Amino acid sequence: MPLTVLIPAPLRELSGGAAELRCGGATVGEALAQLACAHPRLGARLLDEAGQVRRSIALFLDDVEVRELGGLSAEVRDGDTLCLVPAIAGGAPELDGERIARWARQLLVPGFGAAGQERLMAARVRVVGADGAATPALLALAQAGVGTLWIDDPETIGPADLCGWLYGPEQVGQPRAPLAAAALARASRFVSALPYPAGGAPSAVLVCASSSAQAQAATEVARRARVPHVVLELDGEAGQVVSIPPGAPCWACARFSAAGSRPPVAGSLALSSLAAQELLRLLVEPELKEGRRIDVVRGVPTVRATQRLPGCVCGLETPSGG
Ligand SMILES: [Zn+2]
Repeated sequence: MPLTVLIPAPLRELSGGAAELRCGGATVGEALAQLACAHPRLGARLLDEAGQVRRSIALFLDDVEVRELGGLSAEVRDGDTLCLVPAIAGGAPELDGERIARWARQLLVPGFGAAGQERLMAARVRVVGADGAATPALLALAQAGVGTLWIDDPETIGPADLCGWLYGPEQVGQPRAPLAAAALARASRFVSALPYPAGGAPSAVLVCASSSAQAQAATEVARRARVPHVVLELDGEAGQVVSIPPGAPCWACARFSAAGSRPPVAGSLALSSLAAQELLRLLVEPELKEGRRIDVVRGVPTVRATQRLPGCVCGLETPSGG
């Protein structure tokens, strides 16, 4: 029996109370199939109808996220430990009366509904960059009902960050990530906002990085992990928002294939809110495949489908890419 599977407390009612299970199998996929056979309710919580791991569950094989090891085909060795991590500690919350009252307006939007709201509640969104310009996006994601927000920013609050919506003048010089998390927790008790935990496996990423090198690095990680991501790129008060569902043309393609466009003019805080709306759209409609880029020129948005640059590496893993 090569593999030990650790069952977190919220899932133990599905494993007959067991905190640890053992199973065989040469790969993570085979091990999960055995587990699902022995514990069908646990299996249904872990795997969807197509046998894929649900987005609301993260799997760590000896502390490495399984997607980084090749997903279900990752090999299992004797003595390995597989750790199951549900999206929300304490188990997925129900869309109860209080939550329905909070989100009543968006629940009525066609195509959103309870299913969309539940996807947001199960989502773990990593937000890269929490400067002043990113704060409307953070607040918009929290208020829309995203279950877990991981704030990834090692910097401290500077005077320019006070133009945003989360920080006060007395906080200048203090770290952004924990203070943003605390402000979001005050805004909504339905969000779990925390500084980004090393090795955390997000289900979507919003990139509000203040340098393009940081943004490029974060988008590459998201692209390789095949999680939907949205990039907000600001240049002063101008900028654009690019949405990238899994398999769509990458950020590098989206930035450079729209050559010849005029520099947009818009308020950075408005663009930040727009970036959050784009990310919510990708979370609520996971079947979306088209990437798009939105430029706002003198208050008027232009929406274009993104295109892949010939030969870009992002086209290599997607049979339909081109
Ligand atoms: Zn590309």
